[in-house]
Amino acid sequence: MIIVMQNSATTAEIESVLIHVQRMGLEFSILKNIDKTVILTQPNFDSNVDLFKSLPNVEYVVTLNEDYKLVYKNVNALETVIDLGDVKIGGKELTVIAGPCAVESEEQLKRVAFSLKRNGVKILRAGAFKFRTNPYTFQGLGKRALEMLEQLKYETGLKIITELLDYNDLKHFEGIVDIIQIGARNMHNVNLLRAVGEISQPVLLKRNFSATLREFLFSAEYILIGGNKNVILCERGIRTFSDYTRNTLDLSIIPAIKQRSHLPILVDPSHATGKRDYVLPMSLAAIAAGADGLMLEVHHHPELAYSDSDQAIRLEQFEELMKKSKKIAEAVGKTLTF
Ligand code: PEP
Ligand code: MN
Repeated sequence: MIIVMQNSATTAEIESVLIHVQRMGLEFSILKNIDKTVILTQPNFDSNVDLFKSLPNVEYVVTLNEDYKLVYKNVNALETVIDLGDVKIGGKELTVIAGPCAVESEEQLKRVAFSLKRNGVKILRAGAFKFRTNPYTFQGLGKRALEMLEQLKYETGLKIITELLDYNDLKHFEGIVDIIQIGARNMHNVNLLRAVGEISQPVLLKRNFSATLREFLFSAEYILIGGNKNVILCERGIRTFSDYTRNTLDLSIIPAIKQRSHLPILVDPSHATGKRDYVLPMSLAAIAAGADGLMLEVHHHPELAYSDSDQAIRLEQFEELMKKSKKIAEAVGKTLTF
C-alpha cells in the first residue's frame, strides 16, 4: 500500500498513520519525496485502505497493484502533465480541444478553426481517417485532409489532434499531428497500442463503449510499456439500456481514474450524448467532476456536417460554453485561459 501525506501534514499526523501501520503488523518504509511524505507498507490489504484514507492529512492511498505497473499512481505521487509548449494537458490547467468531427473541405476547416482560435482554443480536433460503423457513409478525406491540416497549422499555429486507424498512416502525420488519437473502437487493438507505445508523440486514448475501467487502464498500460509516457485518457460514453442519448456519459470514471492513475483524463460529451443540447451541461458536469479537459465537436453549420451532425455544437454555443466552463473550472481549482 502507498500512503501519501498532504504537503501540510504535521509530524504528529504522520506518526498517527504509523501507529496504525504498526498495530496492523505491517512492515513499512518512509520516503521523502520533494515536499511529501510517502509511507510504503507490506503486505498489501485492500481492507485497510478506507481507514488510512480517513486519517487527517492523508492525501491518497493506493494498493500496490501487481497488474498495472506503469499506469498506476506511484510513490513519486506526480501527475503526468503533457507539455505541448503553449498548452498543457493535466495538472492545474483545463484544456479544451475542439473542432469538427471530420475535415470536409478547406472552407469548412478554416471557418471552424479560425473561430475556435479566436475563442481561445489551442488544440484543434478534426478527423482525416474516419472509423465509421456504416461503410456507405463518409469515410474521411484521408491524406487530402492531412494536407489541409498542415496548411491550417501553418496559418494559425494551432496544435492538431487526429485519429490514427492504421499504423502505416503514421508517416503521413509527421510535422502535422501533435497528438495521435486512438478511437474508442481501437482501444482493444493491442498491435496499434504497442505501435504508438514505441514513439514519443502524445497519444489520446478513448475508452471503448463497452470497456471496464480495468480494461481501459490495461490499454493505456500497453502504450506505456513501449516507453511512451505521454498518454491522455478520454471518456466518451458507454453503452447502457438508456436510449435518449447516443451513449451514457460515465462521469464517475473521472474520480475513479484520479484515485488510481497519474494520467490526465479528458471528457468527450459530444460522442457521449450524441445531442448538441446536452453538450454544454455535460461539459460543465465533467469539469466539476475533476476532468482535465474536454474534447468537443463544433461545426459552423452542423446540419450540413458529413458526420455526427446531431452532436456538433454551433460556433456561438462554443463561445458560451467557454465562458461557463471558466467559472466551473475556477470553482474546482483549475484554470482555463483564453
Ligand atoms: C472521434 O472522436 O472522432 C470519434 C470517432 O470518437 P470515438 O472513437 O469515441 O467514437
Ligand atoms: Mn465524431
